[in-house]
Amino acid sequence: MLKSVCGYCGVGCALEKRDEKLVGVLCAKGASSLKIINTSNRLRQPLIRDSIKEDFRECSWDEAISKIATNIKNTPKDKLGFYLSGQLLSEDYYIANKLSKGFLACANIDTNSRTCMASAVVGYKKSIGADFVPLRVPDINKANLLILAGANTAESHVILHNTIKKAKKSGLKVVVVDPRYTLTAKIADIHMPIKVNGDIDFFNLISKRLIEQNLYDESFVQNKLNGFKSLKENLIKLDEDEMLKNTGISKELFDEFFTLYKTSKNIITAWTMGLNQSSQGVDKNLSLINTHLISGKIFKEGNGPFSLTGQPNAMGGREVGGLSTMLAVHLGFDEESVAKVKEFWGSESVVDKVGLTATQMLEVNLSTLIISHTDPIYHLPNRAKNEKLIKDIGLVVEINAYDDSQTSKYAHIKLPALPWGEKEGTQTNLDRTISKQQVLFEALESAKPDWEIFCMLAKELGFEKEFDFNSPKDVFDEYKMMTKLNGYMDICEADYDKLSDEPFVWGQKIKDFLTPDKKGNLFFTENRFLSEKISDEFLLLLITGRTRDQWHSGTKTRNVDKLLKHKELEFFEINTQDAKELEIEQNQKVKIISKRGEIIAHAKISDDINKGVVFVPISHRGVNYLTDDLLDAESFEPDYNHTAIRLIKI
Ligand code: SF4
Repeated sequence: MLKSVCGYCGVGCALEKRDEKLVGVLCAKGASSLKIINTSNRLRQPLIRDSIKEDFRECSWDEAISKIATNIKNTPKDKLGFYLSGQLLSEDYYIANKLSKGFLACANIDTNSRTCMASAVVGYKKSIGADFVPLRVPDINKANLLILAGANTAESHVILHNTIKKAKKSGLKVVVVDPRYTLTAKIADIHMPIKVNGDIDFFNLISKRLIEQNLYDESFVQNKLNGFKSLKENLIKLDEDEMLKNTGISKELFDEFFTLYKTSKNIITAWTMGLNQSSQGVDKNLSLINTHLISGKIFKEGNGPFSLTGQPNAMGGREVGGLSTMLAVHLGFDEESVAKVKEFWGSESVVDKVGLTATQMLEVNLSTLIISHTDPIYHLPNRAKNEKLIKDIGLVVEINAYDDSQTSKYAHIKLPALPWGEKEGTQTNLDRTISKQQVLFEALESAKPDWEIFCMLAKELGFEKEFDFNSPKDVFDEYKMMTKLNGYMDICEADYDKLSDEPFVWGQKIKDFLTPDKKGNLFFTENRFLSEKISDEFLLLLITGRTRDQWHSGTKTRNVDKLLKHKELEFFEINTQDAKELEIEQNQKVKIISKRGEIIAHAKISDDINKGVVFVPISHRGVNYLTDDLLDAESFEPDYNHTAIRLIKI
């Protein structure tokens, strides 16, 4: 019997392999993981070609690594980029980050977490002083009220959703704030059918009422927070009717919600992409976190602002330092941090400035781009533009376990990596639990784990001694020592060999703000209506999201028949009234058009979505031909949930 952990989503469910079966409390995706390993779309050999017009030919690892290393040597470091993924294990992240930021003087290393969690990272850092999730899943059992904002746990975090359903039986009240009456909303005590982009007004209205009705925690505010005076002055000036209008929620419904809110002792507000993926993703986070700060509902059991991470190891990537906006182990680019990292890595080449984000890399005419376990052409917004831009990059390297990503047709070199189940290493789930993925099946001999691929590249570039690692345990042990550079990170206490039996939860002792003055920061934010506007030509608003049984583009899950039976992949959801006005029939094929492109999808007509809003799941591989590439100014996260579109029957 082998103990491991599911590699799909941020819940990080434990599982065991017994008699060739996966056993554990798993959702359909997790339970079907066994079926995806040796599918026909596996990448089995290193492949190379001189230009994207040619066919690939097989090559040796040595030839491929040598070609990449030569290229890197000839590339100015501001023209080099590493594009990583929340699917990577922490050891993979560590080696890639050490190589890029520590030895190649290349600050351009970022991850696809940029497109999902970056707004939460910035929100946490600004308000509580660090990218730190200040509560854990068991807190749900101690809460009286759980608000889920822009979070469809029933489809995106299935086993966590079961925890919520169970807690409901013990009295937990659930409020879902979402323009769709999602599967999650169906278990809610109150569903708030908010207007797309109404979130800041919604959370500001909670704060405004708490302040005006003297329901905030005065002593906590006085002793533990900065910025209350300014927040109060700004909120008082706002007109409640106008705020309600911006949310699209009736006064009666908001009153009902607020009665529940003010009588709930312990409150958790959880959110995901509905808030983060926005032109004001950071502002949305801050307005949400404000409600917890002024009511003192943070760092107390059963309370807190809970960002629900989507990918299995987006958190680990953030901890290691895989975002270009941090250096390593949550350290920034200040002189002291850079000096510490230089000493730890024994390198004078450590970068001292923020690099390009994943959402900027294709825009700047890079010479070399190394992409690992992710599919930027599929997931970045405004796909047609990116398809043009990527063709200008001299060398595109794709490291992937699978051969059919949307990006692979633009690659010059493809390197076969080991997927979940064939490699070992650690990942951190959405509540800071570090667990170990185990080798469950015989690994494909010609493929390698990512940390090893990056080590091969480092050695070829001349850093033999610094990248002399023989196992993921070796890498983890160096990484965990590095976390000592950052006072609050106690990952150094984790024992790699014990992680399968006893996952390690870091930060358990942190019960206070991590700002220099140990105080939380309040920021007043308001809706600045920056997103693309609807017009006579594009009258509807597109929002996007996951479906229960598919993982992103479905590279893995599309291969599992059982999952495909559950839900169609290329559909769009439209309100009954809108469908009637446009004379669209159930299941009819329709062209969806935005200013940037068009796709075809089948209509799913429903009352479970606000009028004027259309939902396309991200399992539709073409969805980003439509989406707007406007970014949040601080997190550089795309505005995936506010695209003006029109529909044409075909
Ligand atoms: Fe895997 Fe997430 Fe499902 Fe758990 S909820 S089994 S981690 S996909």
